[in-house]
Amino acid sequence: MSEYTIGVDLGGTNLRAAAIDRAGNILHKVTSATPVGGGRDAVVENIVSEIRTTQDALSDKTLKGVGIGIPGYILMEQGIVVGAPNLPEFVDYPVRDEIEKRLGTRVVLENDANAAAIGEKWFGAGRDVDDLVMLTLGTGIGGGIILGGKALHGCLGMAAELGHITVVPNGNPCGCGNNGCVEKYASATSVSAMAKMLNLGADLPAEEVYRLACAGNERAQSIFDTAGTALGTTIASLINIFNAPLYLIGGGMSAAWDQFAPAMLAEVSRRSFTYRTHPPRIERAQLGSDSGLYGTAWLGWGEASTL
Ligand SMILES: [Zn+2]
Repeated sequence: MSEYTIGVDLGGTNLRAAAIDRAGNILHKVTSATPVGGGRDAVVENIVSEIRTTQDALSDKTLKGVGIGIPGYILMEQGIVVGAPNLPEFVDYPVRDEIEKRLGTRVVLENDANAAAIGEKWFGAGRDVDDLVMLTLGTGIGGGIILGGKALHGCLGMAAELGHITVVPNGNPCGCGNNGCVEKYASATSVSAMAKMLNLGADLPAEEVYRLACAGNERAQSIFDTAGTALGTTIASLINIFNAPLYLIGGGMSAAWDQFAPAMLAEVSRRSFTYRTHPPRIERAQLGSDSGLYGTAWLGWGEASTL
């Protein structure tokens, strides 16, 4: 009987899940609204019911495990979320054990941006390298680091919070308590905030600011220059730390690549000797919004080992 795992991407708005086999084929996919208003039990029940629905659809195959990507700080060993701005009710709640108990299947929790980096390593832009660093640009900025084919977790599971690298000392205040984090300049949220400051519109989504920039609006273009410069400053430091062969930009904001990449690459070049002499690849991620699903599905195999 053939086997598969299920990867779950738990966002503040949507819950997505995919059943993926060992060869990377997506066998089944579901999306539903995350019932955040109903409390954590409703969210857990929703996850469990989506997984059961998927199991029913694939009743001729065997489920080997489930990986769940969570937008927050996670204690890996305990399977506990210790900080999640979009899912506050999950904090200090044994979410992994609760879901395992209901499903009777092994469950692995992972930070969503780490999961995206794992997905790109397994089946995306990073297939041919052992080390990569990925920035996921969305509401905030997530980070994932793969070294020697393994996700870097640090001692607790909280490594690779790359969105909170300081790029402007004493810059814009961040929810993490720091000032001038890169996510205050290059996330979709910060693009909207800068558009407001420049009188482009009060609630302009990043996609709209991007359209304006493409149409030649100079204020919109300056926003993406600012974002690109912040990303370039960050990547130059990452190159100095890791000397990895690949740096990936993923997440919804990566669709604005042509607007922010010129400033980003110029800044990396200005700040990194290694980039000027032995340039690594700096690219868009390849799996789009599925990178996290591939990453969590890979974790479902339970091989806490090398990709
Ligand atoms: Zn921060």
